[in-house]
Order: sequence, then structure tokens, then C-alpha cells
Amino acid sequence: MKLKSIEIAGFKSFADKTTIDFQDGLTGIVGPNGSGKSNVIEAIRWVLGEQSAKTLRGKKMLDVIFSGSKGRRALNRAEVSIDFDNSDHFLDSDFTEIKITRKVYRNGESSYSINDKECRLKDINNLFMDTGLGEGSLSIISQGNVDEILNDNAEKRRSIIETAAGVYRYKKQKNETEQK
Ligand code: ATP
Ligand code: MG
Repeated sequence: MKLKSIEIAGFKSFADKTTIDFQDGLTGIVGPNGSGKSNVIEAIRWVLGEQSAKTLRGKKMLDVIFSGSKGRRALNRAEVSIDFDNSDHFLDSDFTEIKITRKVYRNGESSYSINDKECRLKDINNLFMDTGLGEGSLSIISQGNVDEILNDNAEKRRSIIETAAGVYRYKKQKNETEQK
């Protein structure tokens, strides 16, 4: 599985539709302070289902929508799509290419889709569970994360190790079954 590209529109500082194609090998994003480097990473977290406004450095979820700048009015919608090459079927899907899209409108409406077909957040979470992406992912380490992990209590640290080991999926299914 490989990250191919990301398309960002109306999300944080990206008012205009911006596409980033990821080539083979390592990609570095450079730019002056405040130019939007962290916003790119947050767009990736967001499209994969991030539910915490705080993790995205906001107060509420609607803060991700472009809120205007000098000479530019605020927008009413944020939309991010991410494209994966899934020709090795690392993600449990028959598709060889998978596009995930998330949209949110100022009136609070929002949607997720997989390959342009609307779906639930749960479908996204299931697709990425235990892949190292998605819910509770450890693939994206933000500023402050390392300190947080070191300062967490034993139980929290255990859940981090379980996620990394790939047993989180089974624990979650077990809990869901027990609740039924
Ligand atoms: P640094 O090098 O300091 O880490 P950076 O390149 O990571 O900077 P970001 O933190 O990604 O920069 O971008 C910050 C910019 O994004 C700020 O100028 C901020 O005003 C802008 N921004 C954040 N949210 C929004 C929003 N909803 N609407 C418009 N602009 C936003
Ligand atoms: Mg930054």
C-alpha cells in the first residue's frame, strides 16, 4: 500500500484546491513558519477520521474550514481526499486504488466516502484498523506526542503497544460483542 496523493480544498490555510503527489521514496515538506506544513499532516489525520478538534489544534471541528485571510472571505466547506495505491491489497478491499474523502460544511453537515461512494466513519475505521493508519494511529507522531507517550499511565501505554502489535482490532470486536 502506498500513499499516492492528497487533495485539500477549503481546509485550514488551503483555501484553493491544492494537490500534493507523493513520489517514491521519502518526502519532505519544507516552508517558512506558518506556511501550512502541519496543516498538510492534519488534513491527512482528518480525512482518515480524526474526531478530536484538539488534535487538529482547534476548539471545535468546524475550525478546520478556511476562516478567511487578508482579502479572502471565509469558505463554507472543507474537503480532503487521499489516494492510496492498494495493488498489494494491504487494505482489505478488492480495489487496487482507494480514495477516501471527507467533507464538512459550516452548517455542520458532513460526509465520508470510499471511492466516491458515501460511507460511515465506521467503514473508514474498519478499513484502516491495525494498519498503522486511522483511529489511534501511531504512524503520525506530532509535536508533543513523544512526551505524552512517556508521561502516560501504564494502561494507556499498554493500549499503545497493543495497537502497534495489531491486537486492537480483536479487542474492539470483543468489546462490541460483549456490549450486544
Ligand atoms: P511551523 O513551521 O511554525 O510549524 P507550519 O508550516 O507547520 O508552521 P501551520 O501550523 O501548518 O504552519 O499553518 C498555520 C497557518 O494556518 C496559520 O497562518 C493559520 O492562520 C492558518 N490556519 C489555521 N487554520 C486556519 C483556518 N481555519 N483558516 C485559515 N487559516 C488557517
Ligand atoms: Mg508546524
